[in-house]
Amino acid sequence: MHAMVLRELKQPLEWLELPDRQPGPNEIRVKVLACGVCRTDLHVLDGELPNPKVPIIPGHEIVGRIDAVGAGVEDLQIGERVGIPWLGHTDGTCPYCRMQRENLCDHPLFTGFTRDGGYATSAVADARFSFPLGEAGSDIELAPLLCAGLIGWRSLKIAGEGKKLGLYGFGAAAHIVAQVAKWQGRSVFAFTRPGDLHNQNFALSLGATWVGGSDEMPPEPLDAAIIFATVGALVPLALKAVRKGGRVVCAGIHMSDIPSFPYEILWGERQILSVANLTRQDGIDFLRLAPKIGIKTKTTRYALQQANQALGDLRAGRFEGAAVLTP
Ligand SMILES: [Zn+2]
Ligand SMILES: [Zn+2]
Repeated sequence: MHAMVLRELKQPLEWLELPDRQPGPNEIRVKVLACGVCRTDLHVLDGELPNPKVPIIPGHEIVGRIDAVGAGVEDLQIGERVGIPWLGHTDGTCPYCRMQRENLCDHPLFTGFTRDGGYATSAVADARFSFPLGEAGSDIELAPLLCAGLIGWRSLKIAGEGKKLGLYGFGAAAHIVAQVAKWQGRSVFAFTRPGDLHNQNFALSLGATWVGGSDEMPPEPLDAAIIFATVGALVPLALKAVRKGGRVVCAGIHMSDIPSFPYEILWGERQILSVANLTRQDGIDFLRLAPKIGIKTKTTRYALQQANQALGDLRAGRFEGAAVLTP
């Protein structure tokens, strides 16, 4: 197998030939068909997440076809197309797992962070944390659903039922959430970097009711806002944009410090919440719904060996929607 490997934090990935791997008990091996590039991958590379495994093969939006199964795998067959997400394993026994909050597991493994991921021609995953994808939809279009879509979905659920929804940062996750929110009958207010007319037009093309810079106030108070950008300064801005009782959901795994703000903008039972990881149920629910909604992902394809360029382009905001690597 070949892979783009992070051998050292803050260094470019290296194209390496590695010995083929065999799936262990309850594991599957897939031939990777496509793997999305997520902002979290940048946080992994930059060493912004605690206790990384290095060297590591990044990538946690994997679409692959099973070519080997380990002992004990019963629900998945060789030849089946599956998706492999960020949540790679949980202990099943900690207090969080037992209260159906496995996304908060005390002893998790995360694909592309603490177990090898999909920037490779082949990947091994825990079968119990892989989702059958069926044959509808292209590999490239499906890949972004596995994190941008799933985390977006969980964020949307946590944002509550409010009709007026703000989205701060209009990248891979927001462009999917906007479609889900519209399908649910909500109005989307999209906030981009000030002056980023390109992404504002992209949001309008996906049905946003209003677009503006993150330094602007929406024309009416929002019921909830989801912050996908990694900028802590957006938290007080979003708090000012939501009504009494409104929610501000921080969807990212990492964010710059939140500046201090007057208590008055939190008062009125406004809430700030974060979203961490996903549960398998999130995946099942969202992937069942996605074809009904008819979600169209906007993707930019890169060859696997161009992973460093894709990551650089993501960092610089040089494409709309999501980048996807194909071996
Ligand atoms: Zn657990
Ligand atoms: Zn991700």
